[in-house]
Amino acid sequence: MSKPLVVITGASSGIGEACAKTLSAAGHPLLLVARRIERLEALNLPNTLCRKVDVTELADFEQAIKDAEALYGPVDMLLNNAGVMLLGAAHEQAPSEWKTMLDVNVMGLLNGIHLVLAGMKQRQQGTIINVSSIAGRKTFPSHAAYCGTKFAVHAVSENIREEVAGDNVRVTVIAPGAVETELLSHTTSQEIKDGYEVWKEEMGGVLNTQNIADAVAYAYGQPQNVCIREVVLAATGQP
Ligand code: NDP
Repeated sequence: MSKPLVVITGASSGIGEACAKTLSAAGHPLLLVARRIERLEALNLPNTLCRKVDVTELADFEQAIKDAEALYGPVDMLLNNAGVMLLGAAHEQAPSEWKTMLDVNVMGLLNGIHLVLAGMKQRQQGTIINVSSIAGRKTFPSHAAYCGTKFAVHAVSENIREEVAGDNVRVTVIAPGAVETELLSHTTSQEIKDGYEVWKEEMGGVLNTQNIADAVAYAYGQPQNVCIREVVLAATGQP
């Protein structure tokens, strides 16, 4: 029997890319969205629709989902993974960076949920997996706005999980510690970036993207009557 459609946001690099490869290898048709469509297309995965979508643009996101459902049937799982981390001291950081993080990490995630949830409730079947962070459970220096967005991901996820539990829809939060990806590269302060690299070295290395993809596959792969509510994973050496 053919596998159902999975939607992955932010699949053009890092964790999203690893999840796309893993879920494609497991036989799922995919909708991959991100702004760098050339990176999505370069993955060259079978039964995959790639769309240039900024997750903060609801209409574009909605059209991509409609087109994917026309090809592959209803969305069975949404992996809300797209995110940005712009670290900075609160008194120095440009408020526009806070807005970018709130828009992508919170509004983009809510947009995804909004677009798939009605169908899932109607079908009485579906899974939403939201990528948060350990920075959504505890705070770190220079992370105020980023932590704010990731704490919000936990709150939103738990609230929606309760809301749709009776509809046989699962909501899972994956909260990774540090993972080797492009995430840090967008922070503008070289001092903060250098400090982060030292911190990673001191802990003896961080997780790789496949570690997170395995956690996603584990949570999604449970029978529908089992909801893995939260997975928190980090390098053993991460304090
Ligand atoms: P990357 O920077 O490698 O990936 C981020 C992805 O998000 C890219 O594919 C990017 O695509 C996409 N993205 C960013 N903004 C938008 C947007 N407006 N619309 C659509 N897509 C967007 O970092 P990671 O893989 O590390 O990050 C993935 C998730 O994991 C994030 O939510 C991050 O917060 C979380 N995380 C990461 C950790 C880490 O240490 N790396 C730790 C804990 C959580 P494009 O630029 O092409 O649009």
